Amino acid sequence: MVVPCYNESLNLSSFYLNVCHQIHTIQAQINLAIQYEFIFINDGSTDNTWEILTQLNNQDNKIHCINFSRNFGKEAAILAGLKQAKGDAIVLIDADLQDPVELIFQMVKLYHTQSIDIIYAKRINRKGESAIRATFSEAFYKISQVISEVKIQSGVRDFRLMSKEVADAILELNEYHRFSKAIFEWVGFNKMCLEYEYIPREAGISGWSFYKLFKYAIEGLISFSTLPLRLTFIFGMFFSIISFVYGGWIIFDTLLFGNSVKGYPSLMCVIIFLGGIQLIALGIIGEYIARIYEQVKNRPHFITRRENDPKK
Ligand code: UDP
Ligand code: MG
Repeated sequence: MVVPCYNESLNLSSFYLNVCHQIHTIQAQINLAIQYEFIFINDGSTDNTWEILTQLNNQDNKIHCINFSRNFGKEAAILAGLKQAKGDAIVLIDADLQDPVELIFQMVKLYHTQSIDIIYAKRINRKGESAIRATFSEAFYKISQVISEVKIQSGVRDFRLMSKEVADAILELNEYHRFSKAIFEWVGFNKMCLEYEYIPREAGISGWSFYKLFKYAIEGLISFSTLPLRLTFIFGMFFSIISFVYGGWIIFDTLLFGNSVKGYPSLMCVIIFLGGIQLIALGIIGEYIARIYEQVKNRPHFITRRENDPKK
């Protein structure tokens, strides 16, 4: 279990008890001896989350804690947790009890019986969320559907079970600015979705301010699309074509009928021509920057399955 925690002191004890109860239920019902560990990541909390984690750690030797030096954000916490996790399967879950703990049972069962690599949770409604946040979230998903190379569905949570193989693939993407929602999609593997109704936060407040969410959304759009860079080139081409046609027309018109404003036709031709050329040049530079950008992200070119050759 990988659990990012930011100011979750009010939720941690009941979260821990709830999950332990779930694991014991699974063990009893499907008669499966599960060995498990908890990895809690304290993401620079300002309340006494760390004290509670240390107490839990003293009580239970299955609990491991990572303490960040400051608030690095949930993405960094997920990364640290995945790096540390040793299990065959990893469940990533929020500490605030907004992710229904009962789904862990179904996730483990599906993983165990059908060997599905990723079983993720999806919220079927946005009930309880503020209207502004819901509108912006929906807008983000719509834009990203159009411009992004990976399609993320609205309502899909980070809450999921993934096999170690998937986690290793995710760790191979060592880009600095991480956007897990898209990374989870990008790595592929077979997936299954479990749907659930929205659950309000048990206690505490969401660690995501509007600004943090906005920054995160921009991250999501920029990390998985170079379309914004390409647009300059497309605009440049578009305006150049218009400028050539218009320039041609001005020359033709001036030669045939003359133009009463001296210097206007030649000035217009020069302005629109140079404008178009500049945008094309910017677009070409953009194309190169896009490639440099892709390269410095240093992503693997592909990810293979461990058993991809049946003869081996
Ligand atoms: N979280 C974190 N660092 C942050 C913000 C949030 O580790 O900077 C954790 C938080 O403790 C929780 C999970 O990420 O376990 C989801 O956060 P939150 O509940 O605030 O997000 P929401 O449910 O509103 O999307
Ligand atoms: Mg939450």
